[in-house]
Amino acid sequence: MVLIVDDNQNNIYSLKKLLESNDFEVDTAISGEEALGKALKNSYSLIVLDVQMPDMDGFEVAETLSGYSKTKEIPIVFLSAVNTEKRFITKGYKSGGIDYVTKPIDPEILLLKVKTFYNLQENSLAMKRTQQNLELEVKGRRESQATMKSQIDHFHLMLQALPQIAFTLNQDGEVDFVNCKWYQYSDSEQVFPETHPDDHNIKQEFEECRKRGKALELEVRIKNIKTNHYRYHLLRMSPVFEGELIKTWVGTFTDIDDQKRIEKEKDEFLSIASHELKTPLTSIKAYTQLLERKLKLNQENSELIYVEKTLDQIEKLNSLITDLLDVSKIENGKLKINKKPENLENVLQNAIETILHTNGADVKIERHGVKPDFLIPFDKIRIEQVLINFLSNAIKYSPENHQIIVTTFTDEKEVRISVTDFGIGIPDFKQEYVFQKFYRVEESSLQFQGMGIGLYICSEIIKQHHGTIGVSSELGEGSTFYFTLPLN
Ligand code: ADP
Repeated sequence: MVLIVDDNQNNIYSLKKLLESNDFEVDTAISGEEALGKALKNSYSLIVLDVQMPDMDGFEVAETLSGYSKTKEIPIVFLSAVNTEKRFITKGYKSGGIDYVTKPIDPEILLLKVKTFYNLQENSLAMKRTQQNLELEVKGRRESQATMKSQIDHFHLMLQALPQIAFTLNQDGEVDFVNCKWYQYSDSEQVFPETHPDDHNIKQEFEECRKRGKALELEVRIKNIKTNHYRYHLLRMSPVFEGELIKTWVGTFTDIDDQKRIEKEKDEFLSIASHELKTPLTSIKAYTQLLERKLKLNQENSELIYVEKTLDQIEKLNSLITDLLDVSKIENGKLKINKKPENLENVLQNAIETILHTNGADVKIERHGVKPDFLIPFDKIRIEQVLINFLSNAIKYSPENHQIIVTTFTDEKEVRISVTDFGIGIPDFKQEYVFQKFYRVEESSLQFQGMGIGLYICSEIIKQHHGTIGVSSELGEGSTFYFTLPLN
């Protein structure tokens, strides 16, 4: 907006008309005092100021305007009819004017001047605004950089305080921070600790995970650079996302060497103990069977019932020891699977008959689905072991209801057998653990006897057949355990 200041209404009128007809927004003041008041209140891009005015002349107005930060930048064009001498013109420029136009005025020239000064002022204001915005942005960035730096410092301090080796990598997978524990296993920030020649290569494994944007979890032995000894560590490297993109990776090596050693000693003990128990038990069984046969010759013998009970218990002990032996075979990679084309339906029927025979009349087993009455390659003894395990668990963990449904289903790729019971069920978040070694669901472990290794052996057997194993269950409603075998 342009402010015209003149004590002569006619001058104001004609100049106002001229500017408005050229699309300028115009405001007017008829005295220096009024002009000052308006300039402090409103925003003007140009002031056209008459020099000769009563009370406060144009020069005074210009000088006063230059004293206020709000108004000092407004360009002023002086108009004068009387003071046309050089000294007045100089005074005009000194008091803050950018032009001094003497009357009579050539409207065209004045208009051109107004346009030029107006545009100059608008441009300079726009530039000032841009500069202010830029300054604000730079300030904002500096502040957020400072906050980020302090957050990173805080994070690094936390990593330093960890008992594990901790490190971070940038989005290109290059190490950019390590804590002091790192230097027990590597002498350079850039070099990963040396892994045992028989273990996975960390860089290769990490590259695979980086490509897929997935976390890495690995058990590796790494070499302590002082002692030159390898120690087992659990390596975890997790991506930290910013939106869709990986911003950084956070990694830790946790020393699990002592744990590993204890686990190995326990496995060795189990293996030796089960082997040593097996031999005398086999003799006990043989002698007891002889005794049973002898006592059976005379049905009057009341001792027969005791011997039969002893044989039952020997059988239970035998199967416990066999399971323990299986576990140590799995640990040593010696659980051998002997696959031959067999009829799966026959094996299933055998398993069901064994269960019905050993569990009395209150157990009801229903069959659903098309029977797998065909030959496929599998280890008959081991698959029967899995079926018997599923079925005996279904009975064991359903004290109130001994109804079981066995469902069979075949498609072009695989055959699937599932065993459903209506027993105690398994809580949701514990289902994934039941196939782990020695895992027992806490809630039921006191009420039901067991060692928590049956399903672990089953899952190893199925894994070696390249099949899948799983469970779905509802607490208090029952469970369905299933496995699949590939057809070819
Ligand atoms: P065990 O029965 O000797 O404890 P398993 O390996 O066969 O060992 O089973 C592991 C655990 O899974 C069991 O302790 C039990 O808590 C749970 N489980 C297995 N089968 C069932 C089932 N049919 N219903 C409910 N819980 C089950």
